[in-house]
Amino acid sequence: PTILEQYIAQHPGSAERYRKAVGIFPGGVTHDNRYAEPFPLYITHGLGPRKWDVDGHEYIDYVSGHGALILGHSHPAVADAVVEQMRRGTHLGACTDEELRWARAIMNLMPSIERVRFHSSGTEATLMAMRLARAYTGRSKIIKLQDHFHGWHDYAMAGSDRPAPGIPPEAWGSMVIVPAGDLDAVQQAMERDTDIAAIILEPTGAHYGQLPFDVPNYLLGLRQLCDQHSVVLIFDEVVTGFRASPGGAQVRYGVSPDLTTMAKIVAGALPGGAVGGKSDIVDMIAQRGDPEWDNTQRVYHPGTFNGNPLSAVAGATCLELIASEPINQNADAMADRLKAGLNDVFTRTEVSGHAYGIASMIHFTLADGDFDHEFGPDVNRRIKAAAATPAVSSIKRGLQNRGIDIMGRDALLVSATHHEADIDQTLSAFEATLAQVRE
Ligand code: PLP
Repeated sequence: PTILEQYIAQHPGSAERYRKAVGIFPGGVTHDNRYAEPFPLYITHGLGPRKWDVDGHEYIDYVSGHGALILGHSHPAVADAVVEQMRRGTHLGACTDEELRWARAIMNLMPSIERVRFHSSGTEATLMAMRLARAYTGRSKIIKLQDHFHGWHDYAMAGSDRPAPGIPPEAWGSMVIVPAGDLDAVQQAMERDTDIAAIILEPTGAHYGQLPFDVPNYLLGLRQLCDQHSVVLIFDEVVTGFRASPGGAQVRYGVSPDLTTMAKIVAGALPGGAVGGKSDIVDMIAQRGDPEWDNTQRVYHPGTFNGNPLSAVAGATCLELIASEPINQNADAMADRLKAGLNDVFTRTEVSGHAYGIASMIHFTLADGDFDHEFGPDVNRRIKAAAATPAVSSIKRGLQNRGIDIMGRDALLVSATHHEADIDQTLSAFEATLAQVRE
């Protein structure tokens, strides 16, 4: 049987649920990236590095909650904290000790955060960061890097190479798209246009490093250009935050942004996001009784679930563990083993391809090259072209048939609960899958 025939035969429960879902959700799914032909998997529960589907199959999970699960599924300390908080109230309609504890846990890990505000998602965080930068500088345009992902609001989607129905052209008119990794392009944009408020980027490259650039030199160059032109530097650390290192990409590379956007791990894998950074910028949100303070010039920021106590205790518990235990070290060590093993499989099977990535964020590509050390427009083109081939989808399906679930089509996010046996089982499945795909 083919990979696809095996997939269909093995997952009747998922197929049946999907048939019902297409009449309920657009495309049958609640997140664009969960859409899959002929149907996606339905998962019932997860524990540590593993999860189970409705047909009873067990998976080693590298989706890792879209990056949120550095502690693995259902970490006991997070689960206990959330259950206890449930009993004390899920929304107290007030300021809480929990939000203070959560903010302190963030500031403890990321020294650039002098002030912080909470949201419900990363999309809200990047929207607020852009608004803060515009309000603070009195300028209107934002530089965004080609292919970099910042959620789904109108400005974040600028530069996408597909049409975007529903987005007013004015929104994109205020966005300046430059090729990623190219400092000259940023310099020219800043010199040409005095209306640039900020530059936003994923600090390890698009899609948490799938399209790499020369870190830290590129980040250092951006820091200098932003200082020269009084432009706000925004690191979108929604994925890299607390994963690239306990203090994110900014601490790993020693480059301090003006604003940082966070989500996923920051909320202990519950819904939540945050924007933080320099006090004079984030304080644009502040209201004051002081008659000298012009409250009409402030940035508006309500939000029913901002700083909600469930996300607060989950986030604080997770970040306190990251600060006190070798969470990142363990995840990174297993990711290194996985990356080396995947490259070994590519070599042994003589399939052209490469695994690369930073910390616990691994990508593989069927393009040939050493993408931990090579970057630039040509590398990006090769990686993007290789990612679009049907073989990549077949590898994903083949891995699922063998009990491995990966993020998107070609990424593996490793948690602190993955152990050597999980990695080795993954490598055997990868080798068998590559052999099957090559047939
Ligand atoms: N920024 C980055 C770098 C992301 O990867 C994501 C989501 O994957 C977002 C922003 C949007 O976050 P959310 O999905 O919580 O809205």
